[in-house]
Amino acid sequence: MKKISIPRLKKEADKRFSLEVRTRDKFTCQKCGKQNKHVHCAHVFSRNRLSVRYEMDNAITLCYYCHIIWSHRCPVEFAEWCRDRLGDRYLELKTQADIIITDPREFLENKWNSQSLKPAVTTTTEH
Ligand SMILES: [Zn+2]
Repeated sequence: MKKISIPRLKKEADKRFSLEVRTRDKFTCQKCGKQNKHVHCAHVFSRNRLSVRYEMDNAITLCYYCHIIWSHRCPVEFAEWCRDRLGDRYLELKTQADIIITDPREFLENKWNSQSLKPAVTTTTEH
């Protein structure tokens, strides 16, 4: 595989991951039930934490309103809601989120090659 820049690896992986999450949730907001092709892939623990950025359990489909207006403006309520949904898995993810990835390229290339991020055919916009 030829060298791809890290931002590009992230962008592609994000796109594939987002599609997979939204497909899992049938493009339906898991908070309010709205269904359309514009729904977002929201992260329980911030996607700035690379260690959990591509964990399926760390992502959830939300509509624009529930993602931007609700989850971002009411982070405590959102966290409680996620904890209720995920149970013990929530704490596992919380621990995992604290892991620092020292080699982002290796990490991303592994994700890139993993089964979960494999299907590449998509033109949908990411969030
Ligand atoms: Zn919603």
